[in-house]
Amino acid sequence: MKITFAKICWGLLLVLVLFLIRPVGFILYAYLKDKDAQTTVKTGLAQDASRLNETRVDTVVKVLPGIAAATRQISQLIKQAKAEGKKISIAGAQHSMGGHTIYPDGIILDMKTFHGMELDSSKRILKVGAGALWSEVIPYLDRYGKSVSVMQSNNSFSVGGSISVNCHGWQCDAPPISSTVVSFHLMNAEGEVLNCSRTENEALFSLVLGGYGLFGVILDVNLKVVDNKNYVVQHYEIRSEDYLREFQKLVKHQGNVGMAYGRINVNPDHFMEEAILSTYTVDSEQPEKLVNSTNYSFLRRAVFRGSANSAYGKNLRWKMEKMSGSLIDGKKFSRNRLQNEGVEVFQNTDPDYTDILHEYFIPGESVAMFIKALKGIIPNSKVDLLNVTLRNVRKDEDTYLPYANGEVFGFVMLFNQKKGAQAEKEMKELTGKLIDIAISLKGTYYLPYRLHASKEQLDQAYPAAKSFFLLKKKYDPDLLFRNQFYEVYGR
Ligand SMILES: Cc1cc2nc3c(=O)[nH]c(=O)nc-3n(C[C@H](O)[C@H](O)[C@H](O)COP(=O)(O)OP(=O)(O)OC[C@H]3O[C@@H](n4cnc5c(N)ncnc54)[C@H](O)[C@@H]3O)c2cc1C
Repeated sequence: MKITFAKICWGLLLVLVLFLIRPVGFILYAYLKDKDAQTTVKTGLAQDASRLNETRVDTVVKVLPGIAAATRQISQLIKQAKAEGKKISIAGAQHSMGGHTIYPDGIILDMKTFHGMELDSSKRILKVGAGALWSEVIPYLDRYGKSVSVMQSNNSFSVGGSISVNCHGWQCDAPPISSTVVSFHLMNAEGEVLNCSRTENEALFSLVLGGYGLFGVILDVNLKVVDNKNYVVQHYEIRSEDYLREFQKLVKHQGNVGMAYGRINVNPDHFMEEAILSTYTVDSEQPEKLVNSTNYSFLRRAVFRGSANSAYGKNLRWKMEKMSGSLIDGKKFSRNRLQNEGVEVFQNTDPDYTDILHEYFIPGESVAMFIKALKGIIPNSKVDLLNVTLRNVRKDEDTYLPYANGEVFGFVMLFNQKKGAQAEKEMKELTGKLIDIAISLKGTYYLPYRLHASKEQLDQAYPAAKSFFLLKKKYDPDLLFRNQFYEVYGR
């Protein structure tokens, strides 16, 4: 048989089709079976991002826009709740996962409608209603060439919820968000409005930041903002055990890296042996104005969700992520564009499963040891780990319950959990083990997620927890502001 050039071309095409047929078919299947998010909660019930906390509540009260109206409304509500013996919990976007915004038969104060904002460009300070979401703040700041200084890796959260958990993000070499709070107005349990800053009502300032809504209602916040800048992206494939050394070399010693994060592989092939470190170096060009762009989010979502409960999907995703990293190397993105993505791009919408986050804050010198421990524990437990990112966080000097007691690396771990008692039990056991390891390495864990830690673990990771809850009783003797976090650890 004569082998012609045409036959070779057809042969190569066939090989290419055979090579692509499985991954393309897999992604298409993941895309087609993906469900729409169920966002509505039945009247009289409340729920949070865990989708495991459906609870009957008394009422949900939407806060009126405008400071004068909101102040009158909330102080009236406080009087009425006290008279009727009801409790108040405070909610932003409800992305905490342990009922931190919910109290059974309580009143939920929904802050999202209290979202006005005003920028003082000369002082670089944004005055913002606590209910404003970052997805509202970022486009507003973009108009003035400014950007949020510290926030989470997504834009779906409220300012009040973010400072009440003292969030952090992938802005590198930065402490948590509390470092960017200049002051805020707080309505306390007596219905009085107090200005809290580092020099006025200082004790309340440090209790309310990372205080999980237990000391009063944060009304408006003065936040430091920064210039919106352009960044050049670069991805580096490294060995996970070298993470700290590579981070020092590629981020710390460069001096001009504005944002950075790491990802560790969770696919079964060489589980947690590799990492991708992504750096965003400040560029001299002026950033473009924010535009609505989808960034191939439907494809990223299909690849991500396809990896749930699938070893093939996880291997495919890791390969595609490495490939896409090298494709965008050298491209430029504005800070506002990088920070302006919602959680819905990756959110679990499967009614039988839910996504659960954990986060452990580990000192740099113990990062490799923590990874080694994870490699031993995770494959032997019946959990589906979807993602691990690493961000560095500098020491928190401001809050009463700090999770960053020095410079630490936050391991953000996303699990796909089946709904039901058995999976919940397994997750609780795993969480207990991981918290013990974090504590043994002089690290801590993050408090806005599931309330699986024991009281002893809370006290070990947060030695100030006991006095925190005693101070709660001092500032709120009737225990008006209540939520599940307080019920589990404060009572
Ligand atoms: C998908 C996902 C990604 C995440 N990524 C990150 C991340 O990158 N970095 C990070 O640090 N965290 C992250 N988190 C955690 C997140 O920062 C917290 O859950 C945060 O609380 C979310 O803000 P929220 O508006 O949803 O707060 P909510 O869940 O509504 O509230 C959280 C706490 O704040 C209190 N609170 C809210 N508003 C007020 C107010 N006005 N006055 C007083 N108390 C108030 C509530 O009572 C509650 O105790 C993530 C969570 C999810 C689900």
